[in-house]
Amino acid sequence: MGLLHLGTPLTWDETKQYADHVREHGIIQFLHTWDRVKDRCGDELLWGDEVEYMVITLDNETKNAKLSLRQTEVLQKLRNAKGDLTDDDTPASMTAPTFHPEYGRYMQESTPGSPYTGSIQDLLSVEINMHYRRTLARKHLKANEIPFTFTSFPRLGTPGVFTEPHFSPDNAKSSHSLFLPDEITNPHPRFPTITANIRSRRGSKIAINVPIFIDERTPRPFVDPTIPWHRSIYPEDPDAKNGAALNDHIYMDAAGFGMGCCCLQLTFQSCNVDEARLMYDALVPVAPIMLALTAASPVWRGYLADVDCRWNVIAGSVDDRTPEERSLKPSKDNVVVPKSRYDSVDLYISNDWINKPEYNDERVPYNEANFKHLRDHGIDELLAKHISHLFIRDPLVIFSEAIHQDDTASTDHFETIQSSNWQTLRFKPPPPNSEIGWRIEFRSMEVQMTDFENAAFAVFIVLLSRAILAFNLNFYIPISKVDANMGRAQMRDAARSGKFHFRKSVLPPGHTSPIISTPSSCASCSPVEWSQGATAKEEKLRNCFPSIPRPPHVEDGPIEDEYEEMTVEEIFVGKAGSKFPGLLGVVEAYIDTLDVSVGDRLQINKYLEFIRRRATGMFFLSFHAWSLQTPATWIRDFVRSHPSYKFDSAVNQEVNYDLMVAVDEIERGVRRAPELLPEDYVPSNGRHSRTT
Ligand code: ADP
Ligand code: MG
Ligand code: MG
Ligand code: MG
Repeated sequence: MGLLHLGTPLTWDETKQYADHVREHGIIQFLHTWDRVKDRCGDELLWGDEVEYMVITLDNETKNAKLSLRQTEVLQKLRNAKGDLTDDDTPASMTAPTFHPEYGRYMQESTPGSPYTGSIQDLLSVEINMHYRRTLARKHLKANEIPFTFTSFPRLGTPGVFTEPHFSPDNAKSSHSLFLPDEITNPHPRFPTITANIRSRRGSKIAINVPIFIDERTPRPFVDPTIPWHRSIYPEDPDAKNGAALNDHIYMDAAGFGMGCCCLQLTFQSCNVDEARLMYDALVPVAPIMLALTAASPVWRGYLADVDCRWNVIAGSVDDRTPEERSLKPSKDNVVVPKSRYDSVDLYISNDWINKPEYNDERVPYNEANFKHLRDHGIDELLAKHISHLFIRDPLVIFSEAIHQDDTASTDHFETIQSSNWQTLRFKPPPPNSEIGWRIEFRSMEVQMTDFENAAFAVFIVLLSRAILAFNLNFYIPISKVDANMGRAQMRDAARSGKFHFRKSVLPPGHTSPIISTPSSCASCSPVEWSQGATAKEEKLRNCFPSIPRPPHVEDGPIEDEYEEMTVEEIFVGKAGSKFPGLLGVVEAYIDTLDVSVGDRLQINKYLEFIRRRATGMFFLSFHAWSLQTPATWIRDFVRSHPSYKFDSAVNQEVNYDLMVAVDEIERGVRRAPELLPEDYVPSNGRHSRTT
């Protein structure tokens, strides 16, 4: 979530009237930014993570795990909270982290106090940093409250008591939900206004239907007995029985179901805008693969689902498209908008030669007036399309105090649209009045239950991003295939049994192994220690590798020959008999170009080994399963092997309580889960013994 203004939010009818004003000034603000920073070059790699938590109260008497709605108060205390820990808990040289509010009143988000640099030391501090933040968050909670890094709360929106304190969903003034009370939402006016304005713009309540997991005794057809079919408080209450709730599905009807999920995001700074655009594109096809590998949300509204991930639930939960835009009603003009404002990227944006026009094979509606404005100012076609595509959306919240702005100094209107387009990647221009350069954000991953796993994925993605630059890797496939992969990634057990479109040859033309580019000629880049000898190793992860010019004699075959279907395992470890070295293969080759001590390499290898095991299909070593499960598979198995589970898909209060207790114990290292984590897992306490 972006900055939180205090002020008076406009109603939807008022907001609509200012929509064009916000868009027009948003573009002007972007153009001021562009003029200021388009030639900016030489920014070093800085990067950071965002980890989201849901705070849960474990009520040991009633054996109930409930979402704790105190986080607005707790977050006030967490501001500048570093001094609250003893020296034992505070790793040396760690700056005070930042805690942010989120959509759910039970949620928190934390980021490191200052971004990581490209040093190996910073790379290896990520887990300690995350653990430190978790310890700080815990410190301000009651004894029975625990911050969980858990993607979706299994019993959100069930009958009975799932929040502390309890509120009735009959009071759902902004969402009109049959299941979620308004009190689930952060009380800052931004959040209830988003909820209400989405419903108003859409012209109906949110309707999400996730296929239920059909177990041995699931009634067929499954007609959900927990839906209050006959409630009659809000005008939309009959929607459920009039067709909005599908049989054999888990029906959800409010933004909170999706926006109340937790995730793991990473932001990287680039040397310049072109590098940021190339990096954005390169990670677009990686996003669904990482979603599949981090899958962690198989339970919704008290039922096991036939999907493993949150993505489509969030996409549905903020889908503010009108019936015409969703093509439910015939319309004269071509007003159909193919996706929700929360969804996968629609357009590759790099001007590098490796981005062939054929890869952008989806219809990308864009705001023509905004597009023309951008083009007239000299913005190239792809970037103009990207921005004016984001700008087909209306603002969701406008504060009356912030309607009129100094467009040379503010980017508020730009951000209003930009930060309410929630795509798998975000291209972030440098903010005004700050040192920050061009950045991209990687947003598809589900948050994992332990800091070890979250750190492993953060470390892996930053290393992969460097391998992409250093070796000039090419991951492009048609964007329609990336979208197909998004659907596949969410299916049950996709990390094991799914197949994904992926590029066969990722190395530059003519290369048979990854070769590092020489340092850039970019004049303002910090000088890189480099000698021509092949053995010269670099001290840091960095930016600013030159891209390879198009060789004069590349034979361009049909695009369809450039990719094929692979399993997650093949994508990570390579495919026998093919030229594709696997994502882990290129990451390892990249680490070989770095000057890393033996001890540090061991630590990095722990993360990569973990990812290898997660990505690998069933494989036994000395009669033990060597491969590791996704959290989604582990949670599903936990539910299905619980003594009180009746094989009817329902996840009752007792199962949920025992699950959350188990997750907490696993995180703290007091309960082993060898099918989920490495055998030697212990929570990082900042006193890692690193052999150097
Ligand atoms: P948002 O919610 O808008 O995505 P946050 O402020 O929550 O953004 O998180 C931004 C992340 O980017 C944090 O992890 C932060 O450490 C990191 N970060 C801050 N400055 C830079 C920078 N110059 N380059 C890259 N990352 C940065
Ligand atoms: Mg967040
Ligand atoms: Mg954030
Ligand atoms: Mg973010």
